[in-house]
Amino acid sequence: MKEKNNAGGKAKLLEPRVVRDDSEPAAMGPSDLLPRMKDQGYAVDRMDRRRAWVEEKTGASLRHIGSLSFDPERMRGNIENPIGVAQVPVGVAGPILVHGQHARGLFYVPMATTEGALIRSYERGMVALTRAGGVQTAVLADENQIAPTFFFDDVHSAHAFAKWAPAHLAEMQIVAATTTRHGKLTGLKCYQIGRQVLVNFGFTTGDAQGMNMIVKAADAVCAWIRNQQPGSSYLIFSGLCSEKRASGFVMTRGKGKRVTAGALLTNDVLRMYLHVTAAQLFRVWQSTVIGHLQAGAMGYNAHYANGLTAIFIATGQDVANVVNAACGVTNFELHPEGLFVSVTLPALSVATVGGGTGLPTQREALEIMGCHGTGKAKKFAEVVAAALLGGEISMGAAIASGEFVAAHEHYGRNRPSRE
Ligand code: NAP
Repeated sequence: MKEKNNAGGKAKLLEPRVVRDDSEPAAMGPSDLLPRMKDQGYAVDRMDRRRAWVEEKTGASLRHIGSLSFDPERMRGNIENPIGVAQVPVGVAGPILVHGQHARGLFYVPMATTEGALIRSYERGMVALTRAGGVQTAVLADENQIAPTFFFDDVHSAHAFAKWAPAHLAEMQIVAATTTRHGKLTGLKCYQIGRQVLVNFGFTTGDAQGMNMIVKAADAVCAWIRNQQPGSSYLIFSGLCSEKRASGFVMTRGKGKRVTAGALLTNDVLRMYLHVTAAQLFRVWQSTVIGHLQAGAMGYNAHYANGLTAIFIATGQDVANVVNAACGVTNFELHPEGLFVSVTLPALSVATVGGGTGLPTQREALEIMGCHGTGKAKKFAEVVAAALLGGEISMGAAIASGEFVAAHEHYGRNRPSRE
């Protein structure tokens, strides 16, 4: 007798799946939804219950995720459905000597990462810069951006609005000020596309990263505009402001802190601490600029994303902002005494207030640099820029001297043990 092939048949599809099988998607039933909890479940016992539910559902043991040293109520506003914490290793690099407008002195920089060799490399660069006499830093601009879109019936009414809006900035500033004490609407610029107008609002945000603050303020301003412009409508995000995006817009217009850091590395410092000559390091810079041009990269840098991500995780920044913050330009210039090196970051989204900066370990990390709280955001931005410069020269030197692979072999390998 021939066997009946039921594969793909209706009866087969309706069979409940009780065994987890990664090769086939299972249908979701009501018991698969996460348990809803009173008060969103931040109390210790509720968090424990949710974690136990996940353990039972998945068979995974979550002992380490469940080991935390603070009251989970403090996570409210930072996370939903908490089950514990991710323990990311934290190291420290430095010292880095900073001669800034806001940061002055020797700094040790906390970095959270799982990439071996990374902190050792930043440390080497920072110490070389310190031996060279330190890094000059400056905050060149400080303005977060948000760009809603306004919709009109036709091109002429959109154009009339694009001329009307800048003339009413003062009224919009009054509306924005009703929503925040620290956010200040500083200006706006209209970009008309057909019958739509993208309105880019610039805000200072004090010591906060500011996205919650300025979305709320911009929404109030947009509602006011809509009342003034009958027939118009708006959406709060257009994408122009490039929050968490790499773009030409953030390169030229900036987002958050625009900050620069530069130093002269003398020939002696290059030789003794980085094992290269100025010409060797310059050659690495020049040839990798060409590689970036060929790739169509946004700006040029060796690895801002490495340092930014590690510092952002350690200090409670919104880590997704690495995408915009890692746009920038590293420049090396031959100098009669050695090499002048600099970094410029036009879109550094950093905060010392708000977001994740008040969580216990993140706050401690900011305190290592004297950068927690009010009046510290520009100082922190300068320290970050100086630290990144250390990473840029160290990586360039490792490539120039042929130490790059050896350093990773020595510090950065974790081959799974054969069990
Ligand atoms: P927030 O934690 O939402 O707000 C900061 C708070 O700190 C405000 O209430 C502000 O008061 C207060 N504050 C006290 N002292 C301050 C000072 N010296 N400087 C500035 N503010 C001070 O933080 P946020 O920076 O506005 O938002 C950051 C968060 O937004 C990040 O965690 C990020 O993940 C998230 N985010 C949101 C969006 C979005 O679309 N909403 C997009 C991307 C990211 P006032 O309000 O009275 O000024």
